[in-house]
Amino acid sequence: MSALPAETRRSILTRLEQAVPEAIYQTWCRNLVIEEVGENAFEVPVPNAFYRDWLEREIRRPLEEAFRVEFGRAPDLAFCISDSAGAMAVFAPPPPARTRSIPGATPPPSRPAADAPRPPAPKAPATGDLVLNPAYTFDTFVAGPTNRVAHAAALSVAEGGGTVYNPFFVHGGVGLGKTHLLQGICHAILARNPYARILYLSCENFVNEYIAALGKGRIEDFRRRMRGADVLVIDDVHFLAGKDSSQEEFFHTFNALHLSQRRIVLSSDAGPKEIRTLKEQLVSRFLAGFEARIDPPTFEMRVAILRRKAELKQRGIPDEVLSFIAAAVDTNIRELEGAVNKLIAYATLSERPVDLELAREALKDAAAQSASRLGIPRVQEVVARYYGKKVADLRTRTWTKSTSKARQIAMYLCRELTSHSLAEIGSLFGGKDHSTVVYAVKRIEAGLADDEALRTEVESLRRLMRSSSEA
Ligand code: ADP
Ligand code: MG
Repeated sequence: MSALPAETRRSILTRLEQAVPEAIYQTWCRNLVIEEVGENAFEVPVPNAFYRDWLEREIRRPLEEAFRVEFGRAPDLAFCISDSAGAMAVFAPPPPARTRSIPGATPPPSRPAADAPRPPAPKAPATGDLVLNPAYTFDTFVAGPTNRVAHAAALSVAEGGGTVYNPFFVHGGVGLGKTHLLQGICHAILARNPYARILYLSCENFVNEYIAALGKGRIEDFRRRMRGADVLVIDDVHFLAGKDSSQEEFFHTFNALHLSQRRIVLSSDAGPKEIRTLKEQLVSRFLAGFEARIDPPTFEMRVAILRRKAELKQRGIPDEVLSFIAAAVDTNIRELEGAVNKLIAYATLSERPVDLELAREALKDAAAQSASRLGIPRVQEVVARYYGKKVADLRTRTWTKSTSKARQIAMYLCRELTSHSLAEIGSLFGGKDHSTVVYAVKRIEAGLADDEALRTEVESLRRLMRSSSEA
């Protein structure tokens, strides 16, 4: 068994680099060690089952292809868990240039030189049963005004953070990226040190494991497991609400880790003080570190996130379509992602290019669903009130510039939010024919592409409609 000659290894990795997304290459592949173990047989040592499974799933194919091009035949390739010290070199941390830090944050711990002596590897990597979504890394996370503080703090925590960030408590509504950010921290820590003992749990699992341990009389094992973590990451701690004895146990876990300066990262759908029935002692512990809120993304962030998702799927989507989706889906990022997936699936199945027309068709149900109880009269009412007009003005031929703008916006929103046909919409706007509606829709679409004020107005209107259809 011998390491592959440096030149050959470099050439294989270069091919791999061309075949996988940059973020994935940097995090998972650039430090791969390849051992030649026999005639056309190779082994890649990995530190734990988590890495092995991930590489099997995502990297095996492109890696085999790279070998095939290099040697002219498919290799016999195995990813092997190895806890020899050498394996630690496999996943050395990324170069400092790739780690970002925020002003005032503790500088990241310096990286040992490649040939520096390494500490002995633990017998069993503590992260063996860690389940993370490989897509939830910092590289795929889009930062912007509504999540910048949370994002910057997360980067800092991952880099070692100071006591300032302990605990780091991130909160915000559903689908706004809390889990993504928490897992981003785990990935970044693991990329630096695959043996870091990270315990990542949903709060629900924490509670369930606690109850199971109580039932089996194995509470000491449970405590040992929780308190043995270098980094404890608990998602959705609002789940503790109303669970007194779990809160008590969590309090002790928290204290034990905090006292020995282990990192603690928590997420919740509400700030510490807003979680109902959370014991005062926990509230004050949670507040003792750094708290950051994530708010719903702005229009520009939504476009950037959509662009990123489309890139990750290696699909080019025209800007006007991205803007259309970003304007139509303004609730949360999970739904935004659902909309892109749906659009891509729609394009593939119908073998049509991704353009505005297709987007409108594909997303019509989604838009209509969110406003299922919304009819043309309701749209007219909301728009009229918003612009200080009478509904009758929209329905008749009143012809001032401002009335005609309000009318066009109302038609546009009827088209987008209701399932009525163009002809039906026209008839409820004073008996106009469908070409008038088409014209109105085109005008507003053109306006939305370059008129920031109009975009804001239409967005507010959509929100108003949504709240009125939910009421
Ligand atoms: P939460 O835990 O707050 O409910 P998630 O972290 O599960 O939300 O995020 C929902 C989806 O939106 C995930 O697929 C995630 O990747 C994506 N997402 C959320 N925020 C961002 C962001 N800022 N950039 C890119 N994707 C994001
Ligand atoms: Mg979540």
